[in-house]
Amino acid sequence: MSLYVNKNKGFEQAEPMTRECPHCGAHAQLLPVAAPSFDVLAQTKPKHAGLLFRCAACNEPRFLRAAVRSIGAERIELAPNLVEVERTRERFQYAYLPDSVDQLLRETLDCYSLGAHNAFATMCRRTTRTALRTLDGTAKRRWQDALREVLRVCEVDAVAGNTVETVLFADEGDPPTITPDEAAVLVEAIKDLFYQSYVRTAKLRAAMKMRRFFAGESLSKVTPIDRSDRRELA
Ligand SMILES: [Zn+2]
Repeated sequence: MSLYVNKNKGFEQAEPMTRECPHCGAHAQLLPVAAPSFDVLAQTKPKHAGLLFRCAACNEPRFLRAAVRSIGAERIELAPNLVEVERTRERFQYAYLPDSVDQLLRETLDCYSLGAHNAFATMCRRTTRTALRTLDGTAKRRWQDALREVLRVCEVDAVAGNTVETVLFADEGDPPTITPDEAAVLVEAIKDLFYQSYVRTAKLRAAMKMRRFFAGESLSKVTPIDRSDRRELA
């Protein structure tokens, strides 16, 4: 896909571009809003140009950066691999978390979104420890078992699996240095652990409470058969 800034017609995009939106989550088209003028690019000859789009689904602004490929007399060509300036934030149903865990998990996932993978790993351990302190004494064992099951189901190799387990649960030493690939496993693993422990549990409890409430309601509305009356009538 080619992108051009023309001398006369301004910004030109050969075909529509769709991407996942960090604001609304939709896989929506990016509609051009603003691009640097031909004159400014031709005069300053920057390595990169910033472009402003908007999300077709939610209308939020989307900022992208493109390398300037060539500067011609009539048009400037931009490299097609646009870099999203604003990173997609990881989503989580934070409302189900206790306050002490909520803020920590947000910052943990923000570290991942920023690509600060070792900061992310360090925060994963801190957040996991804080969460386990809010739960009962057997929670750590259950979380370790749940993690192993996830790693097995997702066929994660032993080295990455071991790194993730050490990051989350080791009692001593600093978390190991992690690769982007291991960080990708770790982010899904920690989201799954917190989901299972807080979100799923709270949703199940609420659903069961509701069903039992209605079960009790309908039972109390059934009029019991009074056998003595029937005998009298007979
Ligand atoms: Zn959007």
